[in-house]
Amino acid sequence: MSNVCVIGSGISGATIANLLSKKYSVDLFDKARGPGGRASFKRLDQLKGFDHGTQYISPKTPAFKKFINELIKKKILKKWGGKHLFLNQFKKEKKNHTKIIGCKGNNDISKYLLKSINCYFKNELKKIDYKQKKWILTFADGQKKIYEKLILTCPFPQLLKLSKKYIKNPFINKKIKMDANITAMIVIKKTNNNISSYFFNDKILGWAAKENSKKRFKSNLDLWTLQSTYNWANKKINKNRENKELNSKVLIDKFFKLTEIKKTKILLTLNHGWKYSSNSSPLKIKSYWNSSVNLGVCADWFVGPRLEAGWISANDLYRKIKK
Ligand SMILES: Cc1cc2nc3c(=O)[nH]c(=O)nc-3n(C[C@H](O)[C@H](O)[C@H](O)COP(=O)(O)OP(=O)(O)OC[C@H]3O[C@@H](n4cnc5c(N)ncnc54)[C@H](O)[C@@H]3O)c2cc1C
Repeated sequence: MSNVCVIGSGISGATIANLLSKKYSVDLFDKARGPGGRASFKRLDQLKGFDHGTQYISPKTPAFKKFINELIKKKILKKWGGKHLFLNQFKKEKKNHTKIIGCKGNNDISKYLLKSINCYFKNELKKIDYKQKKWILTFADGQKKIYEKLILTCPFPQLLKLSKKYIKNPFINKKIKMDANITAMIVIKKTNNNISSYFFNDKILGWAAKENSKKRFKSNLDLWTLQSTYNWANKKINKNRENKELNSKVLIDKFFKLTEIKKTKILLTLNHGWKYSSNSSPLKIKSYWNSSVNLGVCADWFVGPRLEAGWISANDLYRKIKK
C-alpha cells in the first residue's frame, strides 16, 4: 500500500509528490486528462498547441530562481525570446523581466517532477473520511482508496467542499476570492506580424501570445492564445459554457482591433474558462499541515497569484511534514 496520496498534478501537487517520494511511496490523482493543472498545455497535434493557463514564469525568489535555472540547464525549460510589447501604461513593466517557458509546453515542470510518481488521471476525488487513522477516499467512479497521509492542492473553493470539517485553522473560514479568466485559442493564416506577446491596456483583453514565437514547432499557420482580464471574466465565467462562441468572438475582435493585425479568417477557435484562476491576497500561512490526522494542503493561493507561489507553498509543507 502507498502511504501518501496527493491530489492535483499542478506545480503544488507535482512538487510535494516529488519531495515526499524521497521517503514515502506516493500516489497522485488528478481529475484532468494530463499533468499541469493551471499550467496545462492544450495539444493540437504532436508538437503544436497552446499554453492556455500559465503563460510564462518569471522567478522572483532566489530558491525558485535556482530551481528554474537547473531546469533550464536540463533543457526542460527555456527563455522565451522575441519582441514582447507592453502596452499597459497603468502598470509598470519590470526591467529584465525574463520570460521562461517549457521547452515543449508549460506543463513540462509538472511532467519532469512526476516522472517517477504513480499518477492516475481522470480520477476526481469526491469525498474524504478519516477513520481508524486512515484516509478513506471516494472517487467519482465509486472506487475507494485508503492512505495514511493525504495532501490536497486544489483551488480554495474546491478544497472547502472536500475538507472543511477536517481543517483546524482559521484560514478555512476566510473568504478567499479567486479571480476568473477566459482564454480563447485561435488558429489563423500566417501574417507578417513579428510580435511574441502583447500585454494590453484594455477592459476585456489582457494578453495575447503567439505560440509560434516559442519555437517549439514550425507551421504555416499562426496560433494565438488570447486571455481576458480578470474583471471581464469574473462577470462572464458562470455562463461561459453556454456563451463560448460569443465570448471568444469578443476577445478575437478585440485582438484584431488592438494589435492592428489585418482581420483574417479564423480556422479554429477553442475556448477555456478558468473559474478559479488566481488569488492576489496572500494568507498568513504558506501551507497547512495537521500532524494529528496527517492532512496537508499546499497551493498557490496561500502565497500569491503565480506558479512560483505553488512551488513555495509545497516546499513549505514539506518542511512541516519533515519536522
Ligand atoms: C489563465 C491563467 C494564466 C496564468 N498565467 C500565469 C503566468 O503567466 N505566470 C505564472 O507564474 N502563473 C500564471 N498563472 C497562475 C498559475 O497557473 C498557478 O499559480 C499555478 O498553476 C497553480 O498551481 P497549483 O498546483 O497550486 O494549482 P493547480 O494548477 O490548479 O492544480 C490543482 C490540480 O488539482 C486538480 N484537482 C482539483 N480538484 C480535484 C479533485 N477533487 N480530484 C482530483 N483532482 C483535483 C486539478 O485538476 C488541478 O490539476 C495563470 C493561471 C491562469 C488560470
